[in-house]
Parts: sequence; C-alpha cells; structure tokens
Amino acid sequence: MCLDSTPAGSKSPKADIYHENMTNLTRRTLLGAAVAAGALTIPAPARAGAPTQNYWRYCDHCHEMFFDGYAGKGSCPGGGGHVASGLYFALPHSSVETPTAQAQWRYCRKCQAMFYNGYSPAGVCPAGGGHAAQGLNFVLPHDMVTGAGSQSEWRYCRKCHVMFYDGYENKGRCPSGGGHSAQGYMFVLPHL
Ligand SMILES: [Zn+2]
Ligand SMILES: [Zn+2]
Ligand SMILES: [Zn+2]
Repeated sequence: MCLDSTPAGSKSPKADIYHENMTNLTRRTLLGAAVAAGALTIPAPARAGAPTQNYWRYCDHCHEMFFDGYAGKGSCPGGGGHVASGLYFALPHSSVETPTAQAQWRYCRKCQAMFYNGYSPAGVCPAGGGHAAQGLNFVLPHDMVTGAGSQSEWRYCRKCHVMFYDGYENKGRCPSGGGHSAQGYMFVLPHL
C-alpha cells in the first residue's frame, strides 16, 4: 500500500468529526453570548456565491432603497429625484429563494426603487399607477445576524410595496401618503 496515493487535502473521518464538534461548540458559545445580549441568534448562512449588483442606496428624503447607477434619480415620493445617503449596498440576485432569502424583489423602471413584485397590483408608484419591474430578479436576505458587512431594519412597506429603512422614528415618505408602514420579514442587506 502506498501512502502517497491519498488525494491532496483529504481529511480522515476522525478529523471531520473533530472539526464538526468544534464548530458546534463554537456556535453554541456564540449563541449563548448573543442570547445574553438580547440579539437575534440565527447564524448567517453563506450566500453561496450569489452575484450582486452595486449602486443601491438609501434615499434621505423617502427612506426607500433605490438604484443610483443612472444619471436620472427616479421619482421620489418626497418630490424630485431620490437623494443618496450613507452606505453603498451590493444586493444579491439571480439565486433561488430560501427560508432566509426572499425572491420577487425588482427594480421599478419608473421610480427606481426596489419593490416586491409578488402581489397584484404592484403597489403604488410615485410616478403614477403601480411599480413596473425591469431587469434583475433580486433575492434578498432576511432574519439573520447582522454582520460587519450588512445592515438590518430594512422592511417591506405594506402600503406602497417598496423596501424602506425602518430604523428611524421618521418613516420617510410613502407614495400612498404619510410614512411607510413595515410588514413581514426583517431584511438584512449586504453593503460594501
Ligand atoms: Zn426618495
Ligand atoms: Zn415605482
Ligand atoms: Zn410606503
């Protein structure tokens, strides 16, 4: 028997069991610490290499997530175009829906906001009528631990169907009138 025939990088079963035990121990320890701190305790799964699109930003006027990659800044419910502020988001698309990532999020070609296209009619667009989907199919992560490269408090607005930041007392400007109104999942969106 030649010992050199073992494929490079292969591990013995004993090594795998040891690794798994250590991983579980570490996870339990981290979960314990998170529970003590009152934080969400669901481990963040790896987004197995899903492609992302840059240039998604928070609008300081309406608090919506909008695409800032064009010269035109869409239609802001606060009047004029959206006004980018803060983080630069890189949002995952073209992957399958999972228990912690929701599909059917789309770019509206009329107002340039991110909206949920799973209902009919498709919300309320500040440019008139409902939102109009174009381009990529986004699959957005929700209900997981917020890491260094992600921000929580992003929610679906049940009135206009856009993605908006719910972390402030002021709920921005909803095209349906008043501020946005959160419903459903707590999204955790990756940024650069
Ligand atoms: Zn805006
Ligand atoms: Zn729209
Ligand atoms: Zn709204």
